[in-house]
Amino acid sequence: MRVSITDRCDLRCRYCMPDGCEKVPMSHILTYEEIIRICRAAARLGISRIKITGGEPFVRLGCTDLMKKLKALDGIEEVTVTTNGQQLENYIDELKDIGIDGINISLDTLDPGKFEYITGRGQLEKTLRGIELAAASGIKTKINVLPQKGFNEDELADLAGLAGKYGIDVRFIELMPVGAASAENGISNPYILKMLRERWPDLESDPETRGNGPAVYYKSKSLKGDIGFISAMHGKFCEYCNRVRLTSQGQLKPCLSYDSGTDLVPYLKGSDDELMEALRGAIMKKPEAHCFDKTETDGDDHAEHRLMSQIGG
Ligand code: SAM
Ligand code: SF4
Repeated sequence: MRVSITDRCDLRCRYCMPDGCEKVPMSHILTYEEIIRICRAAARLGISRIKITGGEPFVRLGCTDLMKKLKALDGIEEVTVTTNGQQLENYIDELKDIGIDGINISLDTLDPGKFEYITGRGQLEKTLRGIELAAASGIKTKINVLPQKGFNEDELADLAGLAGKYGIDVRFIELMPVGAASAENGISNPYILKMLRERWPDLESDPETRGNGPAVYYKSKSLKGDIGFISAMHGKFCEYCNRVRLTSQGQLKPCLSYDSGTDLVPYLKGSDDELMEALRGAIMKKPEAHCFDKTETDGDDHAEHRLMSQIGG
């Protein structure tokens, strides 16, 4: 389950929230106690892996304490976090102390000017320092790259090369038409694989399916880390997807692409059994497949129109 703990962020990525985010009062955001209660109910239903996301998780005070408490829940086997890496330097020791199971760091360019342009105001060196520290800490670290036409296509092999430099996995995620992003700006993963094989001709698919995610991994003898592809658009993996998302305002979303979900807030006033039943019902509504390939003219438009940061990207 992906758990968004805030829809705020210290960056303003052009494909995510170019105009910033709507100011939501803290009273509309789940408290940490409420998040823990929902995760405990989810664990009783068999959910064992939690990824903390947002917005930017590290803009919310006390987030590492939450992660520690989630790790201690019966039935929870793994707690990981997804971050833009800007503040990671300040948190890496705490993350190590609490035994976080993984850190995913988003990085779309190695050019400081382009980094500032795409993130609105980020500093490349901070994210690179975060990656270096995370890789050295022994915590399972992955870099997530969002390939975008006319922006970073000439840098994708250099970004993949970080798998060799740091010995960590680098994954390419196809841009999804959510929020401010348009599908036309994305680059297909099969095209990227072809391009990467020009530098690493021995890149071969790793038949061993790893982890619980939808990524497909490739190995090269000259790269210590692996190259992953998450092909939401050109390789629909919905059949195998068991993810659900909890937004920071308490909506359980069974699929990223639809605007629907179950508001769990009213159930927080009831018993644990009622909350579990509500969760179970919400999960059972998981659709067969995403609707990114449908157009508004195909019928009712149930596509998600909120920003990625608001739905827990
Ligand atoms: N702030 C954190 C970060 O940037 O890693 C966590 C939240 S962010 C919404 C999670 C991930 O979603 C990032 O890796 C970002 O690149 C990705 N993302 C944002 N908009 C996207 C889109 N339209 N399609 C695919 N991935 C997207
Ligand atoms: Fe913030 Fe992550 Fe969205 Fe960028 S992708 S604006 S870092 S939430």
